[in-house]
Amino acid sequence: MTDAIDATDKPTPRRNPKPEVGKLNGRQMKPATLMMGHGYDPALSEGSLKAPIFLTSTFAFENAAAGKRHFEGITGQRPGGAEGLVYSRFNGPNQEILEDRLAIWDGAEDALCFSSGMTAVTVLMLAYCSVGDVIVHSGPLYAASEGFVSKVLSKFGVTYLDFPAGATREELDDVLAKAKAQADEQGGKVAMVYLESPANPTNALVDVQAVRDARDAASLESPIAIDNTFLGPLWSRPLDHGADIVVYSLTKYVGGHSDLVAGSIAGAKKWMDPVRALRNTMGGIADPNTAWMLLRSLETVELRMQRAGENAAMVCEFLRGHDKVEGLGYLGFISDARQKDIYDRHDLGAGSTFSLFIKGGEEECFRFLDALKIAKLAVSLGGTETLASHPASMTHLSVPHARKQSLGISDNLVRISIGIEDADDLIADFDQALGEV
Ligand code: PLP
Repeated sequence: MTDAIDATDKPTPRRNPKPEVGKLNGRQMKPATLMMGHGYDPALSEGSLKAPIFLTSTFAFENAAAGKRHFEGITGQRPGGAEGLVYSRFNGPNQEILEDRLAIWDGAEDALCFSSGMTAVTVLMLAYCSVGDVIVHSGPLYAASEGFVSKVLSKFGVTYLDFPAGATREELDDVLAKAKAQADEQGGKVAMVYLESPANPTNALVDVQAVRDARDAASLESPIAIDNTFLGPLWSRPLDHGADIVVYSLTKYVGGHSDLVAGSIAGAKKWMDPVRALRNTMGGIADPNTAWMLLRSLETVELRMQRAGENAAMVCEFLRGHDKVEGLGYLGFISDARQKDIYDRHDLGAGSTFSLFIKGGEEECFRFLDALKIAKLAVSLGGTETLASHPASMTHLSVPHARKQSLGISDNLVRISIGIEDADDLIADFDQALGEV
């Protein structure tokens, strides 16, 4: 059957052929350079320097045999996926260019983009879980991710075990042994080890290397996935430390302008393929316009993150000496030896999102938030503008009180994401707002 197709069919050329990734005279080009053109050939689009936005729901096949070949790839009858463009729920030129470029930042073989960070998280988990399985996850996770595991997957017979972000190797061995026993009892497997580091909103770090060692020592084949939204893609590359799949809310630093919602995952092709298959079925791919905006954002992601990181260092230096401030959860000032050790081994920068603990409680935090003039009172992070919010009463409102307390999500915690404004202006704003507390 396949022979007959091969005899008549030339595969449709990809509109964004994958060139040899980033080599110039044997020298490896850096992501910042590759973001300007990688994966896009202007000659295939009338010479347009930038990729056009391909607003189409479906793609015309060269001939019927090509259509059949593509569907064999889409449906998994032939390994390797579709060789060309088929239908916009499966793929599209803007999304494929985006995926090629996203993979570069994490040193991944493949990437998939989604309509939101939560679509990425949920399709990923669904792709790996069956009835009776156990998910092991670090805590805290972004509240919606945690809720999906505890409230949605549980409806389909998937259970979970969690461990605190800074868990030691012994604690990890212990939780994985329990998870194996639980999975055996339920007639399932340990489907995934899911991490978030730094955790939202506490900034607690997970020792990815120790998780990898513990997973291997337990002879588990479960993939290790990690939400790298807070430090990625610039300051942390979890695949280098033993993670298999990296997860992003692209809404944050990658999109970077607080004007879109999207998500992605990246990793080896063998880990991406089951998720791509489920995305093909369920939908949830980022739309072409959002993918195009993300391509624009990726051109400046390094510049924006560097500037935001420098600003955050200056702002935190000011805040830590302030008499209304009880403490800071900023990765540049880690005092805990275990957390500092993880940071030194895993991370390349302290980021620009941190927790500010104000002396007092909710009332004092609200006064501070209401007095801010430059920083905006909004949830989210990683944009060009500085944002501040109160996780206990906003993003993490649905987390039960006892769990909030055990995770350190206290009433006097304000989460701040520093943008790329002038650092002195930001310091003046925080100073006057703290004056109102
Ligand atoms: N992961 C983290 C760490 C987040 O902070 C968020 C959103 O705030 C998400 C995932 C979900 O992303 P999205 O809002 O793009 O669905």
